[in-house]
Amino acid sequence: MKCPFCNFQELIKTNEVIFTSKNFYCIKDIKPISRGHILIIPYKHIREINALSSLLFNDLLLTIKKASSHLKKKYKQTPLIFINNKNDQSVNHLHIHLIPKRFGILGIDKALREIS
Ligand SMILES: [Zn+2]
Repeated sequence: MKCPFCNFQELIKTNEVIFTSKNFYCIKDIKPISRGHILIIPYKHIREINALSSLLFNDLLLTIKKASSHLKKKYKQTPLIFINNKNDQSVNHLHIHLIPKRFGILGIDKALREIS
């Protein structure tokens, strides 16, 4: 089966892409936990964060910072940021979740229950 996240050109055509950086793009999650739930995705088919080069990792952090600032400005909330275990990913292509919603202390378990 073709990887949907490798299909960047198709996503661009359907206006699903919110913004892009040199090595990553950002889309709305198709099953959002809250308004503004987005994903940051590398153009390259990379399975997990440990497979990123230092260059890509640095660019990822800058892209997360950019997306986080965007969400904070738009939704007045600093986002929760997480990456699922590679065996728990719905799409086997690295993607980082940013959710501009408060979950409270140790609220990540609640967020993960809502996403699965
Ligand atoms: Zn892929």
